[in-house]
Order: sequence, then C-alpha cells, then structure tokens
Amino acid sequence: MRVEPLLTGRLGRPYLWRATCASTQALLDDPALPEGAVAVAEAQTQGRGRLGRTWEAPAGAALLCSVLLRPPAGRRLGELSLVGGLATARAVDHVARVRSGIKWPNDVLLDGAKVAGVLAEGRNGAVVLGIGVNVGQAAADLPADARTRPGSLLTATGLEHDRASVLARLLVELEAGYETWLADGLEPLVPELAARDVLLGVEVQLGDAVGRAAGIAPDGRLILLVGSETRLVESGEVSVRAPAAPA
Ligand code: ADP
Repeated sequence: MRVEPLLTGRLGRPYLWRATCASTQALLDDPALPEGAVAVAEAQTQGRGRLGRTWEAPAGAALLCSVLLRPPAGRRLGELSLVGGLATARAVDHVARVRSGIKWPNDVLLDGAKVAGVLAEGRNGAVVLGIGVNVGQAAADLPADARTRPGSLLTATGLEHDRASVLARLLVELEAGYETWLADGLEPLVPELAARDVLLGVEVQLGDAVGRAAGIAPDGRLILLVGSETRLVESGEVSVRAPAAPA
C-alpha cells in the first residue's frame, strides 16, 4: 500500500508495513518506537478483537493498522478507544461519502453492519490502537459467524474504495481527535459520539441485568437505565441483546 506520500501529519512515522504478521499490535510493542509509529499489514495470522476475540480479514482486502500513542501519565487510557472509534467513523464517512454510526464503545457501523473495529491496548503507559476497516471484502469474504452482522465499504456502497486513502484520512482524524483529548479530554468529542450512537434506546445486557442504553456520559461511559436506576458503565461490561438499530 503506497501511503507514505499521503502522510502529512504527526502520525505515521515510522511507517512499518508487512505483507503478513501475527498482529499489527505486536509490531508496535517496542519501547524504542516513538509516538505516531504506525504498523500496517496486508494480512494477520492472529488478528484480535476485544476480550480475546478474533479479527478476520482476507489478505489485501481490509485496512489493518495499529497506531502507537504515548499519552501523559494519569489519563484515562480507555477513553482512547472512543477517540479511535470516532476518528475511524469520520475517515469512513470522508472516503465512502456515508454517515456511519458508532456502536459504543468501539465499532463503526453502516446500515447496521459492522465495517470497522477498534481495539485499545495499554503497554507500560503507551497505548496501541488497533483499527481494522473492512474496505474491499465482498459479502462472502466477511466472517459468517460474527456477533454483529459484518459489512464492508464495498458491501455498503457498492463501490471500491482505496485503503491508503482510508488510512491517510484516519491518521488525520486521529491526530485531530487525540490533540483535542490531550488538551481538553473526552468531553468536546462526546456530542459527536452521541450523535453517532446506534445503541441509543437499545436493550443491552450488563451482567445479569438488562437495561436500555440512554446515551454517552461526558466521561465516555455508557448511560444505562436499569429499571428506575441510572448506571454508568465502563466499556467491556455490556453486550447487546437486541440487534443494534440501523446506523
Ligand atoms: P465486539 O463486537 O464484541 O465489540 P470486537 O470489536 O472485539 O467485538 O471484534 C471481534 C468480533 O468481531 C469477533 O468476535 C467477530 O464476531 C467479529 N469480527 C471478526 N472479524 C470481523 C470483521 N472483519 N468485520 C466485522 N466483524 C468481525
């Protein structure tokens, strides 16, 4: 993928490209690498989602990338998953001329289908953001057993899109969102997250309890109505019972 000429910002250097690797996350697991390092692979043999789940994509069809961030100490690093999701949604919209939704905390949806996923992993104070965007997969190339119905930019729009353009825009959007987060925290980004929130009004499960998603709090937690009680939920605790509403 020819990307380097498209990179104009602070993210994307060094740029590590592999035809195949276990996971782009692992390529950035190096204390010597600076903030902004990016790893891209055509194929992963051990692509990961959250909670030990797998991320599958045929070689050459998806954007599979990771970005190394070195935020200051004392920040809530989980918030970067939302910053990454928002940047991914914006990049998808820009390149494919669509309006995507975000399934809190980390999935980007088009017409109810998951076209991208974001994974934030902490490493000794650094955060490696892993982002997979389904760009050119045909319907038959998407995982058949996925928890949320999968889609790609191709299946959603009927058009081929350029992975390098998605990555270049993603890095621009991520830099902007990250700078905002560094300066002012998550709060300035919450209105846009809320506007893209496809869980709003959807029944979700939290442990044994079932509640209705009622928006995103200023600190990025999901607002859940359980009976007459309002709870604020950290990511990783919630699963969707009903299918998410279309994005
Ligand atoms: P969750 O949907 O629970 O947030 P993750 O974002 O961690 O899950 O992604 C892992 C899940 O995504 C896998 O369990 C699988 O169901 C699904 N999946 C795997 N590969 C893809 C893909 N290329 N596109 C869409 N969904 C995928």
